[in-house]
Amino acid sequence: LTEKQEIDDLEKRCKLPMVGSDSWERFEELPISRKTISGLKRANFIKMTDIQRKALPLGLCGRDILGAAKTGSGKTLGFLVPMLENLYRKKWGPQDGLGALVISPTRELAVQIFEVLRKIGREHSFSAGLVIGGKDWKIERELITRMNILVCTPGRLLQHMDQSAGFDCDQLQVLVLDEADRILDMGFKKTINAIVENLPKQRQTMLFSATQTKSVKDLARLSLKEPEYVAVHEKA
Ligand code: ADP
Ligand code: MG
Repeated sequence: LTEKQEIDDLEKRCKLPMVGSDSWERFEELPISRKTISGLKRANFIKMTDIQRKALPLGLCGRDILGAAKTGSGKTLGFLVPMLENLYRKKWGPQDGLGALVISPTRELAVQIFEVLRKIGREHSFSAGLVIGGKDWKIERELITRMNILVCTPGRLLQHMDQSAGFDCDQLQVLVLDEADRILDMGFKKTINAIVENLPKQRQTMLFSATQTKSVKDLARLSLKEPEYVAVHEKA
């Protein structure tokens, strides 16, 4: 199977309703590229968690997602897999610029997401960087202009949007807001709104949160388009 044939096949299968997907348990049953499946396997990700089973069929089909599930339920792969696949199916490459942004409340969480991305994305050829401050500003400013995927903390990202000429988000395809409740608890509401204003309106947005507060819903209303709501609640 050539890459073009694979992408044609994935595009055919990434349509809703994805018949049968309710009963799928393994990542490889989903319409996901060989490269991502292989990265998942090497990291020992074989069976999906509940939030992944619910979110992935929708995310792979390009839908906006408002996802809620407690800490530790596997939300990271719920957005990283659709993000990688979205760019792969568009044959995103070095000349295409920034394709995806992941925003995380803290440096520590951003580093964790980046590590998972490196593992499952290892066979893809996307460039990816961390933008979390604490590094040399000039070097960071230079590097981010060459990245396809950035994992960022809100303050540092907005600083680059405001001050780094040549940092261009005009082609962005995917925006992820992870741990949205914590982002808001930490007082980043205005920062996020300013970031979102700098992004193209036509994009896929996935917002994940451990809790669904009113302020998370307000943020969702501002940043998502006809979102699918996916939640996993603990059994009583
Ligand atoms: P959350 O963001 O919901 O708090 P994470 O995405 O950080 O959860 O995942 C929590 C833990 O579960 C991590 O150690 C991760 O490696 C593991 N994990 C996630 N998805 C799977 C899976 N499908 N199979 C096995 N382990 C998984
Ligand atoms: Mg998480």
